[in-house]
Amino acid sequence: MMRYIIIGTGVAGVAAAEAIRSRDASGEIFMISDDPHGFYSRPGLAFYLSGELPDKGLFPAYQRKWLRGNVHYVKGHVTRILPINHEIEIGGSGKLPYDSLLIASGSMASPMKTPGYNLESVVKLDDFEDARRIHELGRKAKSAVVIGGGITALELAEGLTTQRVKIHYFLRGDRYWSNVLDEDESRIIEHKLQEDGIQIHFNTEATEILGKRGRVVGVVTNKGEIIKCQMVAYAVGIKPRLALTQAAGLAVERGILVNELMQTNQSDVFAAGDVAQVYDPLSGRSLLDSLWNPAREQGYIAGLNMTGDKKIYLKEIAYNVTRLAGITTTIIGMVGGTTSDEDIVNFARGDSETFRQLPNAIAMKSGSDVNHVRLLIGDRTLVGALVMGDQTLSRPLKELILRQVDICKVRDKLLQKDIPLADVIMDYWMEWKENRAQE
Ligand SMILES: Cc1cc2nc3c(=O)[nH]c(=O)nc-3n(C[C@H](O)[C@H](O)[C@H](O)COP(=O)(O)OP(=O)(O)OC[C@H]3O[C@@H](n4cnc5c(N)ncnc54)[C@H](O)[C@@H]3O)c2cc1C
Repeated sequence: MMRYIIIGTGVAGVAAAEAIRSRDASGEIFMISDDPHGFYSRPGLAFYLSGELPDKGLFPAYQRKWLRGNVHYVKGHVTRILPINHEIEIGGSGKLPYDSLLIASGSMASPMKTPGYNLESVVKLDDFEDARRIHELGRKAKSAVVIGGGITALELAEGLTTQRVKIHYFLRGDRYWSNVLDEDESRIIEHKLQEDGIQIHFNTEATEILGKRGRVVGVVTNKGEIIKCQMVAYAVGIKPRLALTQAAGLAVERGILVNELMQTNQSDVFAAGDVAQVYDPLSGRSLLDSLWNPAREQGYIAGLNMTGDKKIYLKEIAYNVTRLAGITTTIIGMVGGTTSDEDIVNFARGDSETFRQLPNAIAMKSGSDVNHVRLLIGDRTLVGALVMGDQTLSRPLKELILRQVDICKVRDKLLQKDIPLADVIMDYWMEWKENRAQE
């Protein structure tokens, strides 16, 4: 009987267990996690913070399904992988041998290094335990400083705002999320944040977090100001959890390098999800994502291949539908610009290294206020798009970009100034769909 070990009970780990069970009805599966809450929706943590989702809503109804039938759930921290002996070591409870191993250890918040970072009420948002803590602290705080960029910084700011905490949002640069959004898009988001009562401090850095009896009482800025607050929340980027890889001799760049079977440089060790750096056929590079759907798909393919299958994972063009300052925003493919984002180290949650690729394409925009569309038009295909507000175009664009549909017929039209971009895209998508249906 095979023994499969999965490190991590996030979406990648759980999908792998499902896949193993679909191929091997009797093999023994060990799932190990150092998160006491097991499997739940990490993107849902933002909705928990804003009070839109009760804690029970984070845990899918089928959450216990993966524990049925020779699946052992071990709460513990894996301290070592010993590939020569085909064993893992779990802190405090000895060693476990494996026939096939999956590392689905996810990612974690990049640490903040500002003096005072270790005071109570300096928080990040990695997991359910963090979210509960933020909720608890938010009940008592009058004001908070939020530091960082990307989606998570806004989730922290908005979550605390719903708890009536006054937010001072620090941006190191002069605009929000500058390596994914263009200037107009950053301004749309900033304007909405300000409307919601969030005070943005541009070109501002925290140089010290002040404390009294272990608790935050204020933040000193690079401009010499002191902002009084009772909490500091930071989201300055994430990094894959790679602690186990070095001693195990696994090939690593920014994440664990895997081939198209999700296999590492050791044939019985696989990696999937946020921790895996996966080959992207479009750019010819191996890239990181921190996205729910790719993590799930990678985990599933890894699980199948752990049973001896040879299923190939073909990295899709990255996309995310998220909310930025309450504005629904869909990001598809390569939308990046030339600027670097000083607020994020590496990359962020709900982010993809694909987004910030600089495409060889022409950008065309349309829309006003919160309803905004930006297209990145390549030689024969659309290579990226960003849709804010009205989402009518997000599905057509997602299909046209993901399926690499030839747009030569309408390319010149799309490049004309003052053209109704939305109408051209909609008509072309409908025509493409009809043609496909007839094929
Ligand atoms: C606040 C937030 C907002 C997000 N927003 C979006 C979004 O808008 N859209 C989107 O697509 N994605 C979003 N994401 C990202 C998405 O949730 C992740 O890409 C996805 O959860 C990754 O799944 P995973 O299984 O790879 O890792 P994780 O879900 O992080 O799971 C990792 C698991 O490994 C375990 N582990 C790690 N190391 C060890 C060890 N040594 N021993 C034992 N156990 C270990 C952990 O306990 C955990 O169970 C968001 C994430 C967060 C936190």
